[in-house]
Amino acid sequence: MGGDNCIFCKIIEGKIPSRKVYEDEEMLAFHDINPAAPIHFLVIPKKHLPMLCDASSEDTQLLGKIMLKIPELAIQEGANPGQTGGFKILMNNGAEGGQEVYHMHLHVLAGKRLGNQQL
Ligand code: C5P
Repeated sequence: MGGDNCIFCKIIEGKIPSRKVYEDEEMLAFHDINPAAPIHFLVIPKKHLPMLCDASSEDTQLLGKIMLKIPELAIQEGANPGQTGGFKILMNNGAEGGQEVYHMHLHVLAGKRLGNQQL
């Protein structure tokens, strides 16, 4: 299931420490080690999908579950609720998309007014 030498698979396996936000059998959320906002965590599927482009129809439920969990986690971590509050979700996909870690992940950023963020 894990990718060889994948840093996020090692985090899932507990071989590399992380500050956990949420975990269940299919996903893990943890604080980014280099936060770009007052609240910045990553949400990853436990299944080793290098990029969003590697997901298929069999991952539909998994990806839907992750997306639907994010608002709850953002509020839990301190994002202000409602239309005056909010949060940003970012996913870098591939080298030209700015991806550095090849285990699919969504960045969740909040806690300040965010512009056209690049990570
Ligand atoms: O989307 P991209 O691949 O560019 O970002 C990877 C992210 O993973 C970075 O924001 C980096 O700070 C984070 N990271 C982390 N813990 C690690 C390694 C990387 O939070 N051990």
